Amino acid sequence: MANKKINKKDVAGILDQWKQEFTLFVPSRDEGVVKWAKWDGADTTFMDWYRNTTIPSKAVFFPPMEEMFSFQKDGEGYHIELPASGEPKQLIFGIRPCDAKALAILDMTFSDAYEDPYYLARRKSGILIGLGCTNPCDSCFCTSLGSSPTDSANVDLMLTDIGSEFLVEAISDKGEELIAKTSAAQAATEADEVRAREEVKAAYGKVTRKIDTEDIKKKLPSSFEDKDYWEKIATKCISCGICTFLCPTCYCFDINDERIKSQGQRFRSWDSCAFCLYTKMPVENPREERWRRLRQKVCHKYEFYPMSFDVIACTGCGRCVRLCPVNWDITQTLANLPAQEQIKQEK
Ligand code: SF4
Ligand code: SF4
Repeated sequence: MANKKINKKDVAGILDQWKQEFTLFVPSRDEGVVKWAKWDGADTTFMDWYRNTTIPSKAVFFPPMEEMFSFQKDGEGYHIELPASGEPKQLIFGIRPCDAKALAILDMTFSDAYEDPYYLARRKSGILIGLGCTNPCDSCFCTSLGSSPTDSANVDLMLTDIGSEFLVEAISDKGEELIAKTSAAQAATEADEVRAREEVKAAYGKVTRKIDTEDIKKKLPSSFEDKDYWEKIATKCISCGICTFLCPTCYCFDINDERIKSQGQRFRSWDSCAFCLYTKMPVENPREERWRRLRQKVCHKYEFYPMSFDVIACTGCGRCVRLCPVNWDITQTLANLPAQEQIKQEK
């Protein structure tokens, strides 16, 4: 399908049209926190100020807290009732490539040994409208992880800002079907395509923070036992959990029952390996010290996850760099990993 374009002035009307079919999410500011909020039918100013959301799009498909089922006990035992099925189809307008890639990573997690029906049902019916970053943050490093600010790999439609319009590329069948029935979309011209290519090239060059994944692959396994290194890098961490809660690829959750007499609900809610209670087991907590927990975050993303899924579980979105209250920086931690020889000498 040839590329299309939409005028920014028509975006409100287009979202209204899509809203007939989908529950539609757009970036929204709430007391300084940028999150995905249901489209209010009017405000499209996010197109001027939006860089990326504070709360990643995983929250749309894997909510911070959700009911798994309700239960009731009677003389015959427990009766379980699942939440109503047929959840409305969800559309995210303006997802950044790093966060779309993060959802592809979460898909692997939630469809591995155990298929998570809650997450997968939302993902299957959902649609992602990507918006290339033309103004990446200093903390972004997606280009070091095989992606780019305008990567269209994991979305259904990809939008590139070309001034007063967006160039629209259909990536999946779902995206093609949607744009084909969008009345305000027009055919893109050769001049639009040229402008979009220039924007893509310029955006790539604006990501200046880099990591060396080959070097990390060599050094991380041998650094695991270097207690001094991990203690040093964890000194200022306060175990607040922000770097995991707001990481688009982190997926740990806790499960709790709320019960009154013989009935109640089972909920799951986001959890974090940064918390000292996270791995508490009947005998001991194997990650009691903070440095062990921070090491777990780094090694899980860059060593353990790739062992299972052949992909680094970090998209370089930079949230953990820009939102850590004490300026802990995963890119510095990875850049300063001790070499094997250094570890031997220290011993
Ligand atoms: S956000 Fe910073 S302080 Fe909080 S747990 Fe992560 S590294 Fe530690
Ligand atoms: S580890 Fe940090 S940079 Fe990587 S995906 Fe998570 S929040 Fe983004």
